[in-house]
Amino acid sequence: MQQSRLDLFVDRMVSQRACLDHAAALIADMPGPVFELGLGNGRTYHHMCHIMPERDIYVFERAVASHPDSTPPDDRVLLGDVFDTLPEAQRRFGPTAVLIHADLGGHNRKKNDIFAQNVSPVIEPLLAVGGLMVSSDKMYFDHLVEQALPDGAVHGRCFIYRRDV
Ligand code: SAM
Repeated sequence: MQQSRLDLFVDRMVSQRACLDHAAALIADMPGPVFELGLGNGRTYHHMCHIMPERDIYVFERAVASHPDSTPPDDRVLLGDVFDTLPEAQRRFGPTAVLIHADLGGHNRKKNDIFAQNVSPVIEPLLAVGGLMVSSDKMYFDHLVEQALPDGAVHGRCFIYRRDV
């Protein structure tokens, strides 16, 4: 039987948490900033602040409308379309991000997939060697290597990639 929308939502949420917890533990000893692509309500941003309290977390969002408890300081927001702000970030930070989390999609799976194909090459140069990318959508990277999911994550609801070289 097909999953309900509620089933899919729950799977996405538990997968995001499991993958973020796993990735944060793996990069714990690496110096460098963390990027959150798509603030939305701010739930995953809030979780990232919770599990990585010492980290500089930069948020990429075109219009901040998050819960007040999950709103980043102004100097940590790169406001605008990611196709503009990610290249700006590349010039500003270089390949230094140790963890990039992306949850930029909406309800239309086909549109999300096309978006993922277009945004992957703009994300890829930002990741440090050894850095991890966690995404709610399958991405299309030239050099990042897909990783096994941790316990608790649901296959197809979250993806983890690593820059090895
Ligand atoms: N992970 C978030 C949370 O836990 O609340 C939810 C993120 S929500 C699904 C997706 C967010 O991505 C929206 O706030 C939307 O404005 C943002 N977004 C989508 N496309 C974008 C783009 N091209 N540039 C910047 N932000 C974008």
